[in-house]
Amino acid sequence: MVNEILKSKQRFAEARKVMPGGVNSPVRAFKAVGLDPVFIDRAQGSRIYDIDGNSYIDYVCSWGPLILGHAHPEIVQALCQAAERGSSYGAPCEKELELAQAISEAIPSIEQIRMVNSGTEATMSAVRLARAFTGRDKILKFEGCYHGHADSFLIKAGSGLLTAGVPTSPGIPRDYAQNTLVAEYNNLDSLQTVFEEWGPDIAAVIVEPIAGNMGLIVPDTVFLMELRKITEDYGTLLIFDEVISGFRTCYGAYQNLIDIKPDLTTLGKIIGGGLPVGAYGGRRDIMERVAPSGDVYQAGTLSGNPLAMAAGLATLKVLRDNDYYTDLHELGQYLVRGIEEILRTQGLDYSLNHWGSMFSLFFTPEAVRNYSTATSSDTLRFSKFYRVLLEEGIYFPPSQFEVCFISAAHSREDIEQTLQAVEKALYISHLD
Ligand SMILES: *Cc1c(COP(=O)(O)O)cnc(C)c1O
Repeated sequence: MVNEILKSKQRFAEARKVMPGGVNSPVRAFKAVGLDPVFIDRAQGSRIYDIDGNSYIDYVCSWGPLILGHAHPEIVQALCQAAERGSSYGAPCEKELELAQAISEAIPSIEQIRMVNSGTEATMSAVRLARAFTGRDKILKFEGCYHGHADSFLIKAGSGLLTAGVPTSPGIPRDYAQNTLVAEYNNLDSLQTVFEEWGPDIAAVIVEPIAGNMGLIVPDTVFLMELRKITEDYGTLLIFDEVISGFRTCYGAYQNLIDIKPDLTTLGKIIGGGLPVGAYGGRRDIMERVAPSGDVYQAGTLSGNPLAMAAGLATLKVLRDNDYYTDLHELGQYLVRGIEEILRTQGLDYSLNHWGSMFSLFFTPEAVRNYSTATSSDTLRFSKFYRVLLEEGIYFPPSQFEVCFISAAHSREDIEQTLQAVEKALYISHLD
């Protein structure tokens, strides 16, 4: 950081007057690290620039969508061309069809797909569909997984193992909480216990097959295999929420890599290429229940929007035409090995979870496998670390419990600069 963030501070003060907390989505306010956010002026490749003239190497990448980095020329071109042809029709267009075809080719379990405008809409609609299809009301989620902000998902575990969940936000009727059961991620016993008690009442289990909303947590494959088996045994639908992992882990979804077929999949982020898009899809016999072919209502004025479809299609095309996943894995390895070396040198026994182009450095010596181990992190120490990183021009997500993303626009030099900053930030944050 070359310049003081004076303009950002001033604009944030103004923003707090007209917008709750000054932002349109909570984590952007930097509350978890006790700082004021920087206002972004523009972004290009791996870098974002704030309104005070500072430049940062960006590991937020808009929270996952920007796997090609900012303002990729092919995406910009696709958007300009689409805009000239009109921004919304409210009628069928070819780009919706092409994106649907591209996704269903890449993810075999998706026989039919419906586009929506956010990941939240996708998961909310998938659960409605699962409830209609099974005629059951209850759903099961895992503590620490995030599936957007619909009422059914803002629920955490109650005090006893077999009690219903409790809302994590005011404004959610207790009746909703009663229909959302919560188990522990990566924990087979917890899963089996819930099914023994409630199995025949559970419409769907929704899970992030690789968890990215309590920091990064890679699942045990046996946990996911058992999940597939137990849901089949009980006639419960399995929903993989691949809003982050879809087209992040490979050209397709994480399910492709572990060879487990969910009944429904939710997508978002990357498939919109930086525009607001979500989608849900899966087995034809289930999806056919969605209106107008079926009776389960779900609609959207801007769904399948031609600009959003153009950005998504262009992103998928660039991803398909280039072998970026190998490059991204290598860059990820390079960064992770570097951080591990720094931790060793400084005698810090922290957990560094990583998969391909995603990583999370947890400020805890515990192996982080679920929500309770994730939350054993020293968040105060993380905040100190974060402050130095930002000053050094490295933009990590401003929370211990978010994933860092590497994009295809990140270079080896970016990673080297990042490692130098991480070394300094870890050192300074452990001085006392
Ligand atoms: C981001 C995210 C969502 C919600 O998507 P929005 O577009 O923010 O509504 C849902 N599920 C997962 C796994 C996510 O990471």
